[in-house]
Amino acid sequence: MSAHPVDRFAECIAPASWQAVDFISDLHLQASEPGTFEAWVRYLRRPAPDRADALFILGDLFEVWVGDDVLHADALSTDHAFARACAAELRACSTHTPVYFLHGNRDFLLGAAALQACGMQDLSDPTVLVFQGQRWLLSHGDELCLADVDYLRFRAQVRSPQWQRDFLAQPLARREAIARELRAQSEARKRSTGHDPDLWADVDAEAARNWLRRAGAHTLIHGHTHRPAEHPLGNGLRRVVLSDWDMGATPPRAEVLRLDVQGTHRVPLIP
Ligand code: MN
Repeated sequence: MSAHPVDRFAECIAPASWQAVDFISDLHLQASEPGTFEAWVRYLRRPAPDRADALFILGDLFEVWVGDDVLHADALSTDHAFARACAAELRACSTHTPVYFLHGNRDFLLGAAALQACGMQDLSDPTVLVFQGQRWLLSHGDELCLADVDYLRFRAQVRSPQWQRDFLAQPLARREAIARELRAQSEARKRSTGHDPDLWADVDAEAARNWLRRAGAHTLIHGHTHRPAEHPLGNGLRRVVLSDWDMGATPPRAEVLRLDVQGTHRVPLIP
């Protein structure tokens, strides 16, 4: 049986009343980067005229997420308090603006309990957003970085329900120790490539075209690569890459991609 071209992808259909939606990704929120947290809180708390009708978070909101029990663990560490502060901000935002969340490679363990505590609605990766009669394909982007073979092998492992059950069954302190170890390994890899994002794997253009064709969409919006840009993919297809956020960098980075009836616009949030 031939597959319908759009049947693999989940759809999120925007109400006709929505005039604008915002996309953010790769904030890598962590207690040790208060400047990025503060910029994000200022964004979430903007007055109503500046707000979009919905917020889409396309992954790696958090630098790490080891389990939803950080939101109610008895031993309150700095990291737990930070996660709770983030959840409170998201929940407050969700009372006036719908917030959608798609998992990244850092926060793939954020589960149903945390989604509920944060007032966020879960999105599959990828999802087609149907907005103002047009189809926009949303993804974190990591699954399309085909050259990153080691990572894709790791991804297949950690996205399996069995691996996640086994991992989450371990005590919180043990999970936090494993996450620190994985992060140290990742930092060591980054040092070996000189911290230059240009040397990291990028989204494979043919894979992106293939997804867009199957989704019946013209534009892929994704994060993950930390290389904000617009790439034409031929035949009217293109991909738009979100910026990561880092208020500790020189110059600092914090940017929203807004989609309205005119199309996509980058909105820098640096004061
Ligand atoms: Mn990522």
